[in-house]
Amino acid sequence: MDCDRCGKCCIETSMQLSLNDIRRLEKLGYDRGDFTIIKDGFYTLKNRKGACYFFDTKSRCCKAYAKRPLGCRYYPIVYSLDKNQPIIDEEECHKASTITEHELKTTAPKLARLIRRIIKDSPKKDKQQRRRRLNSQNYQDVPKKQSERDLVIQRSKIAEEY
Ligand code: SF4
Ligand code: SF4
Repeated sequence: MDCDRCGKCCIETSMQLSLNDIRRLEKLGYDRGDFTIIKDGFYTLKNRKGACYFFDTKSRCCKAYAKRPLGCRYYPIVYSLDKNQPIIDEEECHKASTITEHELKTTAPKLARLIRRIIKDSPKKDKQQRRRRLNSQNYQDVPKKQSERDLVIQRSKIAEEY
Protein backbone atom coordinates (compact mmCIF):
# COMPACT_ATOMS: atom_id res chain seq x y z
CA MET A 1 0.00 0.00 0.00
CA ASP A 2 1.13 3.48 -0.78
CA CYS A 3 0.32 5.10 2.59
CA ASP A 4 1.41 8.74 2.60
CA ARG A 5 1.06 8.98 6.39
CA CYS A 6 -1.52 11.72 6.14
CA GLY A 7 -2.53 10.88 9.70
CA LYS A 8 -6.27 10.83 9.11
CA CYS A 9 -6.65 7.40 10.66
CA CYS A 10 -5.01 8.71 13.85
CA ILE A 11 -7.68 11.37 14.39
CA GLU A 12 -10.42 10.39 16.85
CA THR A 13 -9.17 6.84 16.81
CA SER A 14 -11.17 3.99 18.27
CA MET A 15 -8.57 1.32 17.63
CA GLN A 16 -8.83 -1.63 19.99
CA LEU A 17 -5.76 -3.12 21.58
CA SER A 18 -4.58 -6.54 22.58
CA LEU A 19 -2.50 -6.99 25.70
CA ASN A 20 0.48 -7.65 23.42
CA ASP A 21 -0.05 -4.24 21.86
CA ILE A 22 -0.22 -2.66 25.30
CA ARG A 23 2.88 -4.43 26.60
CA ARG A 24 4.86 -3.54 23.49
CA LEU A 25 4.04 0.14 23.99
CA GLU A 26 4.78 -0.05 27.71
CA LYS A 27 8.27 -1.26 26.87
CA LEU A 28 8.84 2.12 25.25
CA GLY A 29 8.20 3.68 28.66
CA TYR A 30 4.56 4.62 28.25
CA ASP A 31 2.03 3.97 31.01
CA ARG A 32 -1.05 2.06 29.88
CA GLY A 33 -3.21 4.31 32.02
CA ASP A 34 -2.11 7.23 29.84
CA PHE A 35 -2.73 5.74 26.41
CA THR A 36 -5.63 3.33 26.90
CA ILE A 37 -9.26 3.56 27.85
CA ILE A 38 -11.79 0.77 28.19
CA LYS A 39 -14.51 1.36 25.63
CA ASP A 40 -17.41 -1.02 25.07
CA GLY A 41 -15.49 -3.59 27.08
CA PHE A 42 -12.27 -3.42 25.05
CA TYR A 43 -8.90 -1.84 25.57
CA THR A 44 -8.87 1.06 23.14
CA LEU A 45 -6.39 3.76 22.22
CA LYS A 46 -7.06 6.98 24.09
CA ASN A 47 -7.48 10.27 22.26
CA ARG A 48 -5.95 13.50 23.45
CA LYS A 49 -7.22 16.77 21.97
CA GLY A 50 -9.02 14.91 19.22
CA ALA A 51 -6.20 12.61 18.12
CA CYS A 52 -4.58 9.42 19.28
CA TYR A 53 -2.37 9.72 22.36
CA PHE A 54 0.64 8.79 20.18
CA PHE A 55 -0.08 11.18 17.34
CA ASP A 56 2.30 14.11 17.10
CA THR A 57 0.14 16.91 15.76
CA LYS A 58 3.15 18.99 14.63
CA SER A 59 4.95 16.35 12.58
CA ARG A 60 1.70 14.45 11.97
CA CYS A 61 3.55 11.24 12.73
CA CYS A 62 3.01 8.40 15.14
CA LYS A 63 5.39 8.66 18.10
CA ALA A 64 5.33 4.89 18.47
CA TYR A 65 5.31 3.99 14.78
CA ALA A 66 7.72 1.06 14.98
CA LYS A 67 5.77 -0.46 17.87
CA ARG A 68 2.27 0.69 16.92
CA PRO A 69 -0.74 -1.57 17.51
CA LEU A 70 -1.32 -4.32 14.98
CA GLY A 71 -4.70 -2.87 14.06
CA CYS A 72 -2.92 0.32 12.98
CA ARG A 73 -0.53 -1.74 10.84
CA TYR A 74 -3.36 -3.56 9.08
CA TYR A 75 -5.52 -0.50 8.50
CA PRO A 76 -7.18 0.34 6.07
CA ILE A 77 -7.98 -3.37 5.81
CA VAL A 78 -10.93 -4.05 8.11
CA TYR A 79 -13.65 -6.69 8.42
CA SER A 80 -17.17 -6.28 7.13
CA LEU A 81 -19.90 -7.86 9.22
CA ASP A 82 -22.34 -7.72 6.30
CA LYS A 83 -19.97 -9.38 3.85
CA ASN A 84 -18.20 -11.57 6.38
CA GLN A 85 -14.90 -10.87 4.73
CA PRO A 86 -12.06 -8.41 4.86
CA ILE A 87 -12.75 -5.14 3.12
CA ILE A 88 -10.80 -1.98 2.46
CA ASP A 89 -11.94 1.19 4.21
CA GLU A 90 -12.14 3.33 1.11
CA GLU A 91 -14.38 5.91 2.76
CA GLU A 92 -11.83 7.00 5.33
CA CYS A 93 -8.48 6.31 3.68
CA HIS A 94 -7.67 8.21 0.50
CA LYS A 95 -4.91 5.74 -0.38
CA ALA A 96 -7.06 2.68 0.09
CA SER A 97 -7.14 1.99 -3.64
CA THR A 98 -3.42 1.20 -3.55
CA ILE A 99 -3.97 -1.93 -1.44
CA THR A 100 -3.17 -4.97 -3.56
CA GLU A 101 -5.08 -8.25 -3.70
CA HIS A 102 -2.03 -9.93 -2.22
CA GLU A 103 -2.01 -7.55 0.77
CA LEU A 104 -5.71 -8.13 1.32
CA LYS A 105 -5.30 -11.88 1.20
CA THR A 106 -2.29 -12.03 3.50
CA THR A 107 -3.68 -9.54 6.01
CA ALA A 108 -7.04 -11.29 6.49
CA PRO A 109 -5.72 -14.18 8.60
CA LYS A 110 -3.62 -11.81 10.66
CA LEU A 111 -6.74 -9.77 11.38
CA ALA A 112 -8.54 -12.95 12.40
CA ARG A 113 -5.81 -13.76 14.85
CA LEU A 114 -5.82 -10.22 16.22
CA ILE A 115 -9.58 -10.10 16.63
CA ARG A 116 -9.58 -13.32 18.62
CA ARG A 117 -6.78 -12.01 20.78
CA ILE A 118 -8.54 -8.71 21.46
CA ILE A 119 -11.70 -10.55 22.48
CA LYS A 120 -9.70 -12.83 24.76
CA ASP A 121 -7.86 -9.92 26.36
CA SER A 122 -10.95 -7.82 26.91
CA PRO A 123 -11.21 -6.81 30.57
CA LYS A 124 -14.95 -7.47 30.85
CA LYS A 125 -16.48 -10.87 31.40
CA ASP A 126 -19.41 -11.13 28.99
CA LYS A 127 -17.67 -12.49 25.90
CA GLN A 128 -20.79 -12.73 23.75
CA GLN A 129 -21.56 -9.12 24.47
CA ARG A 130 -17.98 -8.16 23.70
CA ARG A 131 -18.11 -9.99 20.39
CA ARG A 132 -21.28 -8.14 19.42
CA ARG A 133 -19.84 -4.82 20.40
CA LEU A 134 -16.47 -5.25 18.75
CA ASN A 135 -15.86 -2.01 17.02
CA SER A 136 -17.74 -1.71 13.77
CA GLN A 137 -15.17 0.72 12.42
CA ASN A 138 -12.16 -1.49 12.74
CA TYR A 139 -13.18 -5.13 13.16
CA GLN A 140 -16.68 -5.89 12.14
CA ASP A 141 -16.64 -9.66 12.33
CA VAL A 142 -14.72 -12.63 13.54
CA PRO A 143 -13.73 -14.70 10.50
CA LYS A 144 -14.91 -18.27 10.25
CA LYS A 145 -13.52 -21.57 8.95
CA GLN A 146 -11.90 -20.26 5.80
CA SER A 147 -9.78 -17.86 7.76
CA GLU A 148 -8.93 -20.49 10.34
CA ARG A 149 -7.32 -22.44 7.53
CA ASP A 150 -5.54 -19.34 6.29
CA LEU A 151 -4.38 -18.69 9.81
CA VAL A 152 -2.46 -21.94 9.86
CA ILE A 153 -0.90 -21.22 6.49
CA GLN A 154 0.14 -17.78 7.61
CA ARG A 155 1.48 -18.74 11.03
CA SER A 156 5.15 -18.85 10.07
CA LYS A 157 4.83 -15.52 8.30
CA ILE A 158 3.25 -13.91 11.34
CA ALA A 159 5.97 -15.33 13.55
CA GLU A 160 8.62 -13.88 11.27
CA GLU A 161 7.09 -10.43 11.36
CA TYR A 162 6.11 -10.20 14.99
S1 SF4 B 1 -3.58 4.49 6.21
FE1 SF4 B 1 -4.67 5.94 4.90
S2 SF4 B 1 -5.64 7.42 6.32
FE2 SF4 B 1 -4.02 6.31 7.44
S3 SF4 B 1 -2.16 7.59 7.22
FE3 SF4 B 1 -2.12 6.08 5.53
S4 SF4 B 1 -3.09 7.12 3.81
FE4 SF4 B 1 -3.64 8.27 5.66
S1 SF4 C 1 -0.86 4.32 17.57
FE1 SF4 C 1 0.12 5.56 16.01
S2 SF4 C 1 -0.65 4.74 14.06
FE2 SF4 C 1 -2.05 4.02 15.67
S3 SF4 C 1 -3.70 5.55 15.77
FE3 SF4 C 1 -2.13 6.12 17.27
S4 SF4 C 1 -0.80 7.59 16.22
FE4 SF4 C 1 -1.97 6.48 14.66
